[in-house]
Amino acid sequence: MHPDNSGASSLGAISVAVGSGHGEKEPLTEKTVSIVSLGCPKNLVDTENMIRALEEKGFRIVPDTESAEVIVVNTCSFVTDARRESVDTLLEMARFKEEGKAKVLVGTGCLVSRYREQLPGLIPEVDFLLSPLEESTIGDRLSSWNVPGAPTALPLIDPRAIPFRPKRLTPSHRAYLKVAEGCDHTCTFCAIPLSRGLQVSRTRESLLEEVRQLGGEGVVELTLIAQDLTRYGTDLGETEGLAKLLEEIDRIGRIPWIRLLYAYPTLVTDRLLDVMKNAPTVVKYLDIPLQHVAGNVLKRMNRPGNRDSTKRLIDRIREAMPDIALRTTFIVGFPGETQEDFEELSEFVRWARMDNLGVFPFSREEGTPSFDMEGQIPAREKNRRRTVLMGLQKDIALALKQEWIGKTVPVLIEGPSEQSPLVLSGRLPSMAPDGIDGEALVLSGQAPAGSVVQCRILRAHPYDVEVWENGVEEDPSLMSS
Ligand code: SF4
Repeated sequence: MHPDNSGASSLGAISVAVGSGHGEKEPLTEKTVSIVSLGCPKNLVDTENMIRALEEKGFRIVPDTESAEVIVVNTCSFVTDARRESVDTLLEMARFKEEGKAKVLVGTGCLVSRYREQLPGLIPEVDFLLSPLEESTIGDRLSSWNVPGAPTALPLIDPRAIPFRPKRLTPSHRAYLKVAEGCDHTCTFCAIPLSRGLQVSRTRESLLEEVRQLGGEGVVELTLIAQDLTRYGTDLGETEGLAKLLEEIDRIGRIPWIRLLYAYPTLVTDRLLDVMKNAPTVVKYLDIPLQHVAGNVLKRMNRPGNRDSTKRLIDRIREAMPDIALRTTFIVGFPGETQEDFEELSEFVRWARMDNLGVFPFSREEGTPSFDMEGQIPAREKNRRRTVLMGLQKDIALALKQEWIGKTVPVLIEGPSEQSPLVLSGRLPSMAPDGIDGEALVLSGQAPAGSVVQCRILRAHPYDVEVWENGVEEDPSLMSS
């Protein structure tokens, strides 16, 4: 959005593009809004910010789309499947303008940034579109809905100082803190910079203020997110911005679990590791999307490093924190990835024994340099490579968890498990929110959501563990395998 990253001064006002919508603009009498939030936790935070902007203008958020006068779809366009889901959801919601109470359909998020020109033609029922940077105007925009002569140029909120969002869509005991928007990297497979622009970091003051507020609300786990968390503050002229931010969050000390997602491999500094090691509230967990380890594949991805430098990184992290839990993601089937490259990656997976691992088949994304790259690999082969790698990791994940049997660990209780109403779901520090790293099935099932209880690990599975809360009377029928 703002290639020069020059901040607030160039933001000013925007005139919001209006889709054709259908027929006369009906006045909004009930001011009820239903929001469908798609995509990643960063998009979820954006939805939470839109809720704040709407409630400030007297709109009421309702859970069901059938009863809402306004429907907002916060879209995702990360990969083809996500785009398809976003378009399908907009089309589905458009039906409520015919069959339901809906008078206004709004499209927001990454799909808007990338396809603003095409969308009105594709889904004429959409009344207006807001890209991520424009979402802060949604309250004003709807307040001036069908008001003759209403201004179309609306003030934007400076993304560096987004105010606190009182309403969160996560369970009350946990929250996401999006420390920056956009990305300065240019990975050849990635469309995110096309929809989110260059990195814009929030000011440390606005972040710390939010941390204090969330701590005051009893939040137990705060997950820091960005496209590249480790570059936090560089656009503010800071060095080691993330390490400094973490130190201050830890010093506030009101939130017991601080977790980091989306670190960039070459930006994991010794200073950051030192802060993670010595800060009691920072969970010994790090998510570092490596994408690949073979040098020539990384080169074609426009990412630094190779297998040896990646091994040195993992060694350096484990030297600092031997018990740290590591998560990563790999792309298989990138154009030009040879069988040797894939074997090099497989060998690394065997060597690294990551606690958590995600593998994605390469997705050919329009507008990215890899879209037209030679050496595209057939889908069947991409999926075969994914299956092989996930198979390797499954055995590793199980073996790692079997080493924990009998140990007592802290478990953050989430609430009833979807796997069985008789047990509770929880997470160990090595498990990030939203089930991406599996769950702890708490067989003793008594602790309230949001509490952190000491539990003994009874049984291990590749992605989950079964645990019993210390101090709860033992039930042999549940405890014996
Ligand atoms: S660092 Fe992540 S968000 Fe940024 S371009 Fe690369 S893959 Fe995309």
